[in-house]
Amino acid sequence: MSDQSSIEWTDATWNPVRGCSKVSPGCKHCYAETFAERFRGTPDHPYEQGFDLRLVFGKLPEPLRWARARKIFVNSMSDLFHEQVPDVFIEEVFRVMVEADWHVYQVLTKRAERLRAVSRALDRELVAHDHIWLGVSVEDRKYGLPRIEALREARAGKRFLSIEPLLEDLGEFDLGGIDWVIVGGESGRGARPMHGDWAMAIREQCREANVPFFFKQWGGVNKKKAGRDLGGRRYDEFPVAETGELPSRGARWRILAGAEARAAALERELGIEPLTQIRRAG
Ligand code: SF4
Repeated sequence: MSDQSSIEWTDATWNPVRGCSKVSPGCKHCYAETFAERFRGTPDHPYEQGFDLRLVFGKLPEPLRWARARKIFVNSMSDLFHEQVPDVFIEEVFRVMVEADWHVYQVLTKRAERLRAVSRALDRELVAHDHIWLGVSVEDRKYGLPRIEALREARAGKRFLSIEPLLEDLGEFDLGGIDWVIVGGESGRGARPMHGDWAMAIREQCREANVPFFFKQWGGVNKKKAGRDLGGRRYDEFPVAETGELPSRGARWRILAGAEARAAALERELGIEPLTQIRRAG
């Protein structure tokens, strides 16, 4: 877990999975891939294997170590619902989120069909919580909009859309059952442009549907210079979430010990080599 994040709509990141593969046009300039591949082959670096998908069992219990409540972006460097992530691993991520309920979790995916299937298969007690926000990325009409329908059918405490990078005018779409919308343009070299009226149209629909709206960035090659104001003002809205009380230190350490034991058992069960062995094998 990284206890700080430069991502505007979160406080921290937690990556029990690292690496991913591309599924749609929104992935074209994936920042996670660019970052991870920079370190491929660097001994002992977390991204020594570049952007290859890996389960990081030792990271599973991490939110329980973190006493100060914060908003946590789950798998900022991957996609929890990637087809190679086993159901039991996803279930354990949800179990930890339920146990460490003083945080808010932001779980974002492009694999909306699997999100729907897994969330409906899991016990309601693991999924339907106000502090666990499930979201889908929406970059265009063809790939992005159908994800909203799948999200609506998913079991969730709160549902959100990350409309970034916004690649075209989305037109009118249904915001029923959606609790939060983030909009942003693509940034970095080769960034595809976002038109202001595409973002304004979404803002208007959020206003009409009474959905909190967060404008993350214009993007572009120099995203700092382009800024974060839309129509002359800043939009930093969030939904209100109910979170749990931080348990006493002793109780928290007992819950943590249980989560560490489960993570170790899961690693044995799934038969994945410990990272040290992967390193030795080069
Ligand atoms: S789904 Fe997300 S993490 Fe995976 S390749 Fe696409 S943009 Fe990157």
